[in-house]
Amino acid sequence: MRQWVGTALTAAVWVTTLGSIGAGQAVHDPGDRIVLVTIDGARTQEIFGGLDADILKSTLKAPQTLESSPTYRRFWAESAEERRRKLMPFLWSLVTEHGSIAGDTGAGSAVRLGNRHWFSYPGYAEILLGEPHDAQITSNDAVQNRYTTVLETLRTRLSLSRNQVATFASWALFNQIVEHTEGATFVNAGVEPLGLSAKDVPLLNHLQAEAATPWDVTRFDVFTFRMAMAHLTTARPRVLYIAFDETDDWAHDGRYDRTLEAYARTDGYLRELWTWLQSDSEYQGRTHLLITTDHGRGRTSTDWRNHGAKVAGAEDVWIAFASPRMPQRGPWRDAPTLSTSQVAATLASWMGVDWNADHPKAGKPIR
Ligand SMILES: [Zn+2]
Repeated sequence: MRQWVGTALTAAVWVTTLGSIGAGQAVHDPGDRIVLVTIDGARTQEIFGGLDADILKSTLKAPQTLESSPTYRRFWAESAEERRRKLMPFLWSLVTEHGSIAGDTGAGSAVRLGNRHWFSYPGYAEILLGEPHDAQITSNDAVQNRYTTVLETLRTRLSLSRNQVATFASWALFNQIVEHTEGATFVNAGVEPLGLSAKDVPLLNHLQAEAATPWDVTRFDVFTFRMAMAHLTTARPRVLYIAFDETDDWAHDGRYDRTLEAYARTDGYLRELWTWLQSDSEYQGRTHLLITTDHGRGRTSTDWRNHGAKVAGAEDVWIAFASPRMPQRGPWRDAPTLSTSQVAATLASWMGVDWNADHPKAGKPIR
């Protein structure tokens, strides 16, 4: 029998009663599902304001003018609200009709990183562990996560099969980031073939090996997304994590045009993902979607390419979510500051698991 009956209040009470259950004990499983999506290094400036004209201008070479740039013609509008809807129309329809988004500092809502490094591995580790480990996680080196992640814990606590907790990522480092015990969950990351005979997958395997990106151990997001969808529709995971990359790497390369195209393409992937989730009887109405990023970047046309502890603004991030057990709030205004340290406990709470019981220092679930 399902114990969750559809209101945020019910869910909160239900999670509280589970607070005393210790690690390793099975929890009552209400059959909900979660999808976590990260968009690497996606700045709050683009998420909430769309195209940044100062940055675009700084990347153009004479005689090209701002007004004649195809990027400007595609994404420019007078107000921030119009520009963000031109860049990510689906995200904005999702958060205004079905969910919430926090992190718009101009509206009195901030989301900050808890870690002090402001680059990828520490950022993703914070998301998946619920707390920073600044002294232990200090590089993007391919070392196995020193701590058990929320993905591994959900598999154990809900007695899920390996295929039911799956990560698809463009960057190969996710093989190390998402789990402490190698092989504890299903991971397909970097230019890695997917062992699935489903429609299109052999062709995707072939194409990703030939379509080299300018970046080491990283594939284009299209392969990550298509493979994730193939796994979603056939293996039907309860916990799915999709980690997109291109918004970060094109920015590092100074290609603002490609960076914005990556935002728009990712938005299309989110639309396709959501549409499928809402069309499937097992996922519709019981799937919680959370979208966030691992770090921000510099705020100006001189430092937007970069991030890291010395780059002001790289600590500013955002969190969007749509949960059938939480009230729809749209864009948050004048709200308490959130942290990406709250993601792990939030994801766990949606699955009926109290992350803070075993991780008292971790961020608390978003309410
Ligand atoms: Zn990153």
